[in-house]
Amino acid sequence: MINVTKTFLPPKEEYDRILEEIWHSNQIANGGKLHLELRKKLKERLEVDNIILTANGTLPLQIALNLLGDEGEIITTPFSYVATTSSIVWEKCTPVFVDIHPDFLTIDEKKIEEAITPRTTLILATHVFGNPCNVEIIEKIARKHSLKVVYDAAHCFGIKYKKQSIFNYGDLSTCSFHATKLFHTGEGGAMITKDEKLYQQLFYRHNFGHAGELAYYGLGINAKMSELQAGMGLAVLQYVDSIIANHKKVAEWYDFYLKFNGYRKPSIRKFTEWNYSYYPVIFESAQLLLKIQKKLNENRVFPRRYFYPSLNKLPYVTAVKMEISEITADRIMCLPLAFDLQEKEVKEICRIINSCI
Ligand SMILES: *Cc1c(COP(=O)(O)O)cnc(C)c1O
Repeated sequence: MINVTKTFLPPKEEYDRILEEIWHSNQIANGGKLHLELRKKLKERLEVDNIILTANGTLPLQIALNLLGDEGEIITTPFSYVATTSSIVWEKCTPVFVDIHPDFLTIDEKKIEEAITPRTTLILATHVFGNPCNVEIIEKIARKHSLKVVYDAAHCFGIKYKKQSIFNYGDLSTCSFHATKLFHTGEGGAMITKDEKLYQQLFYRHNFGHAGELAYYGLGINAKMSELQAGMGLAVLQYVDSIIANHKKVAEWYDFYLKFNGYRKPSIRKFTEWNYSYYPVIFESAQLLLKIQKKLNENRVFPRRYFYPSLNKLPYVTAVKMEISEITADRIMCLPLAFDLQEKEVKEICRIINSCI
């Protein structure tokens, strides 16, 4: 059976060896040794100034929206994982959807300004499949209208845009280290910002608002990453470059064996050093997608319909039409992409797809 992704597990002895330190220190929570070590290593690996490690990739979105959203209107993309929209609603803000670009699949920056109202507080856009949004134009629009910019960069481990970590764009970026993501800590996530003051505000909010043992800066919640998660992260981090290299190899096999007749790939924005985290293909019609999905499933291959449905169709948001996002969500599927996928498996998947056209 071949699934859309496969969780990379490090050799168990290596995780055990890291866990030994917990037994030694007897500290399993609250910014222990492993947490601090992972934070330091990620800061270096990702070339960012400030990183806060969290229990998952959704809490950073909630904290950012709670701090900067002001229960206002949030300009956002309808083509992302559900957490992007649900966090907005959860934090009592209102999602205002702006349709996506048909090739890049990121929010269409040309349509942002017409969606801004006096109630708009923030732009929350997703670098979907690790493909950077048009960060320069979004920055300009945000400055002009005094809006904050938050990027859901859940898919962006290791990505650079114009030689800079993609996490360095916008006021802050969030990331997910969930087991299905390229780099993982089991469950886990992070928030990243260049802004020192914002970093301090985010930091105390992710730790109950503590300013020392007995004082509080203000309202906070618990979003801390545990030592067990950090230990998994340290074990996986040693392999992340080889995971990316293997993903690249698999993506190149797909590029080679697929005929791209009746379906296409989204475009990656120029000046991007990508991480090969997903292999999405967009079919000419939803019928063709369903036919191919059925055929692959019969052969025990399980691609996944990322992202479906278009988020403007969720039952808890005000219904609006988002033409390109809806068409895309109906026709897009991510093909299996894992560190250990073999060339003959990719070749067989491609043969099945090509034979359906
Ligand atoms: C995975 C993901 C999240 C949520 O991350 P969790 O770690 O599962 O909470 C948020 N946004 C996007 C775009 C994602 O893909």
